[in-house]
Amino acid sequence: MYLQIKLGFADICKMAYRIGFGVDFHQLAGGRPLMIGGIEIPHDKGSVGHSDADVLLHAVCDALLGAACLGDIGVHFPDTDLQYKNIDSKILLQKTVELIKKENYSVVNIDSTLCLQEPKIKPYIQQMQKAIAEIIGTPENTVSIKATTTERMGFVGRQEGVVAYATALLETI
Ligand SMILES: [Zn+2]
Repeated sequence: MYLQIKLGFADICKMAYRIGFGVDFHQLAGGRPLMIGGIEIPHDKGSVGHSDADVLLHAVCDALLGAACLGDIGVHFPDTDLQYKNIDSKILLQKTVELIKKENYSVVNIDSTLCLQEPKIKPYIQQMQKAIAEIIGTPENTVSIKATTTERMGFVGRQEGVVAYATALLETI
């Protein structure tokens, strides 16, 4: 009995978990597609940025990089680099996953919250979960996406911008 407990404790010690946090902001403007969570959402405004400006994928990338202590998205994919102009952020997420794998980490789960006044995000959440989980290579129920408005307060409430927050848990492979 004592031996079993001892071995169990040793196993736990071998496992390493790392938590990470990411946040991202983008302005909203007419004439741009609204890319969120790897999918295009029909709306009269889209997010402005050097890449496709997918606020949720960028926050997820930062959470993953943060958990592995690898800096942030701007370090790896600078917005001054022309190769990232209008790039599909799913490619950035794919590259981020490769970076954390190189450090021998795999993703346990992601939790995120999107802040925008309009449009309603709920009908698109499942599609976003699927898109993100496919890239990360985990089941869909490991990618949580929540959405909130700011009750019409501030820049989000005035529909001038969109914000996403994400946390990620990694474990050693
Ligand atoms: Zn961004």
